This record gives sequence, structure tokens and C-alpha cells, in this order.
Amino acid sequence: MAAALTLSPGQGHAAEADVIVIGAGAAGIAAAHDLKAAGRKAIVLEARSRVGGRAFTDASLGPAYDAGAMFIHWAERNPWVQIARDLGVATSDETWGGGFRVFAGGQPMADADRQRRRGAFGQIDRRLETVDLTKRDLSIRDLLGDLGPDLAPIASSGLLLSIGEESERISARDYQRLWAGEDLLVPSGYGNLVARHGAGLDIRLNQPVSEIRWDGPGVSVTTPSGMLRAQACIVTVPVGVLKAGAIRFTPALPARTRDALDGIGMGALTKIALKVEGNRFGISPGTSFLEAGSPKRLMNFDLFPDDKDLIVAFCGGDHARELSLAGPGAARDHLTTLLSAMIGSDIRKAVTGISFPAWWTDPFSRGSYSVCLPGREAAREQLAEPIGGRLFIAGEATAGGGAMTVGGATLAGRAAAAAVARIKA
Ligand SMILES: Cc1cc2nc3c(=O)[nH]c(=O)nc-3n(C[C@H](O)[C@H](O)[C@H](O)COP(=O)(O)OP(=O)(O)OC[C@H]3O[C@@H](n4cnc5c(N)ncnc54)[C@H](O)[C@@H]3O)c2cc1C
Repeated sequence: MAAALTLSPGQGHAAEADVIVIGAGAAGIAAAHDLKAAGRKAIVLEARSRVGGRAFTDASLGPAYDAGAMFIHWAERNPWVQIARDLGVATSDETWGGGFRVFAGGQPMADADRQRRRGAFGQIDRRLETVDLTKRDLSIRDLLGDLGPDLAPIASSGLLLSIGEESERISARDYQRLWAGEDLLVPSGYGNLVARHGAGLDIRLNQPVSEIRWDGPGVSVTTPSGMLRAQACIVTVPVGVLKAGAIRFTPALPARTRDALDGIGMGALTKIALKVEGNRFGISPGTSFLEAGSPKRLMNFDLFPDDKDLIVAFCGGDHARELSLAGPGAARDHLTTLLSAMIGSDIRKAVTGISFPAWWTDPFSRGSYSVCLPGREAAREQLAEPIGGRLFIAGEATAGGGAMTVGGATLAGRAAAAAVARIKA
């Protein structure tokens, strides 16, 4: 993969590529592979110094963990099962299996409260089976409305760890259509697998795109290194990046595309890894603890997954946003305070490092993944509509039932490449 880029300083010359793909995450990589296979010259411009986007196996603490995507969801139809096989990368259907314990305020949760929690949890699925969403959409909070202020937050709290968003900002229709199936793990790292799949493509790193012009016959794309021209452009940056206006479009994106962006938010699923050395606190590797005392501030801990010297915490929604804005120091204090109550204050001494990829504040992500607002589930398809016959927005947000996943991003990238291939060369 090329790290440096020599771009032309101005317009008025022949196109350097048939297609420019913006973003080297799962969607961009998939699009570039298919374009290459179709004999089109594709250049991928990536803002970061690495490939993979929100699939990222982070080894900054020594032992590696997946800071973004970890599971190959709905494996039965997920293209990554075959990609892993082709690359000789092992997958596994076994989770770490060290047991699961629920706490409230640092103390094991009373049995009666656990039962109540479990009962509340099933309510979303039960209601989705019977509710009529054909005439109007609901937010998940509205779906649970009659459960009352005591149980409704408990029933929806699990969504903070799956969708990463508060229930009032989740469309029930969109949630209902998300694909389900078997989950597989990639023991050597899902992020590593995605990055490996990028090998052999013309990916140019450290190239944050600041402007896309589509007022001429093709497109011209500006990065700090200069300008690049092509016949078409596939934009795979996260919806959060588009919503933040980090890329200027000239002319502006059509009203329909902007309206689609208004209908999609970004969740804030967040993982924080602590390196823990010299003490395992008598805990079996792969145990999970859930601190569920406050449903809005749910925090899951995977302790010593795969026998690594790590505790990986994750949370979502507004609580995760607060932590992301507070930064790694505050996050470390918060997590060690929670863990002290559960396993003892020696944890403070045992924590020797933190890795905090705060996707919510990350300028190249601006959130964990896309979430349709109530009433706006059609925004995904609307966002994928080709613009001016040469701009194509793709990525997990446009993946319909596969949205929010690496597999969905890949299918969306392939669909965009197929749409580009239909343009006359
Ligand atoms: C904490 C977390 C856990 C997750 N867990 C799972 C899971 O278990 N399983 C699963 O399938 N999915 C999971 N996901 C979701 C999954 O990671 C994403 O859906 C998927 O990786 C998105 O791929 P993409 O190509 O659409 O976008 P991205 O991977 O975000 O790729 C877009 C690329 O565009 C780049 N970019 C941004 N701005 C610019 C710019 N201006 N110029 C050039 N490049 C730019 C970015 O750096 C990035 O590399 C998780 C995500 C998070 C955050």
C-alpha cells in the first residue's frame, strides 16, 4: 500500500483514475476490489495512517483487542466468512466462556432484581412481534411506553450496548429489519483481517479529503496533497463525518441526500481497554461483569478475555458520549472506581495503561455506527441514491438490514462498485 501521494496541483488535466474511493474501511476496500476486478482503475484515499476504519485491532497496550468491530454477525450470509477462509484466517464460534455476573453499585445484584431485569429485557422483542408498524413508525421508547418509568429504562438499557444509542432515538422499524444470525469471532482480530483484505489495492494513507467537486464532467477531490480527478467517486466515510460537514461538496449535496442525512444519527458504542498487570483478582479469564445499577449508565467489563492482561469495558449512548468528551484520564478514573467496588481497590495499582478509541469524538468517525431516527428508516436507501450519475454514497449506513456492521459495509461497497460499473466508461 502506498503511504505517500503525489497529486496534481490543479484542474484541467486528464483523470488520474476511473474512480476515487474515499475511505479505506470495509466498504471502501470492497468497492476497490470489485472495481479492480472489473478492470477499473480505483484509487482509495484514506484520512488515517491505517486501513480498516471502524474495524481496528489495537495492540497499543501489548495484548491486542478489537477496539471497533469484533463479531462477524449473521455469519450465515456474511461475506467475511469467505474472505477469512480465502486468506487462511481462523474464525471461531466460541466466546471466552468465563461466566457472567451482574452488579448494582458494585455489589452482586439481588436475585429478585435480576429476574425483573430479565423479564424487562424480553419486552422489546415481544412487542415487536405484535406491534403494527405498517402505518407509522415508533421509537423504541414509545414501543415500551406503557412499561412505566421504572421498567422501561431497564428494558431498553441493553440497546446501549448493542445499538449504542438511547431508545428515544432508535426507529423501531429500522431496528426490526436488522439481520440476525450466528456470530463468529476472529481470534487474530477482525480489524487485522479487514486491514489484510486491503492488501494489493491502491490505498493512499494520510489523505483526509476536504472537498469533492462534481460541477464538471467528472469529480475532483481535494486532500492536503493536492487534487485528484476521476470519472466517479464512491464516498464511504461514516455518516457522522458527512453530517459534521468535514467534506465540502461543490455544488452542495442535493436536498434529498441532505434530508437522508438528517434522518440518520450516529450511536456511541464505546470500548475502553485497561492493561492490568500482576493481579488477576481470582477471576477466571473471559469472565464478564455488568454494572447495571443505573440503567442509563450500563457498563460491561470483559475481564482477561482470551487470557490477556486486559479488561475491556464498553458502554453506549449519552453516557459514552460524556466519557468520550471527558477523555482518557476521566475514563480511567471512572472505570477503576467501578471496578474497585466490584473486585477491590488494588485494581487501581494493577492498571498500567489505557486505550480509549473514542469513536464519538474521533474526527474520522464521529460515532460508532448509524442509527435511523424514528420515522426515518427509509433514509438508508435514500442516502444510497446515486448523485449526478457520478457520486455514490456507500458504507454501513446504506446497508439496509445489514447496517451497523462490517459485513453490511462490504455489501454496500460492492453495490456501489456495481453501480459505478454501469456507468459508460
Ligand atoms: C465499538 C464498535 C463495535 C463494533 N462492533 C461490531 C461488530 O462486532 N461487528 C460488526 O460487524 N460491526 C461492528 N461495528 C461496526 C463496524 O465497525 C462498522 O459498521 C464498519 O466497520 C463500517 O465500515 P465502513 O467502511 O462503512 O466505515 P469505516 O470503517 O468507518 O470506513 C470509513 C473510512 O473513511 C475514512 N475517512 C473518514 N473521513 C475521511 C476523509 N475526510 N477523507 C478520507 N477518508 C476519511 C475513515 O478513516 C475510515 O477509514 C462496531 C463499531 C464500533 C465503533
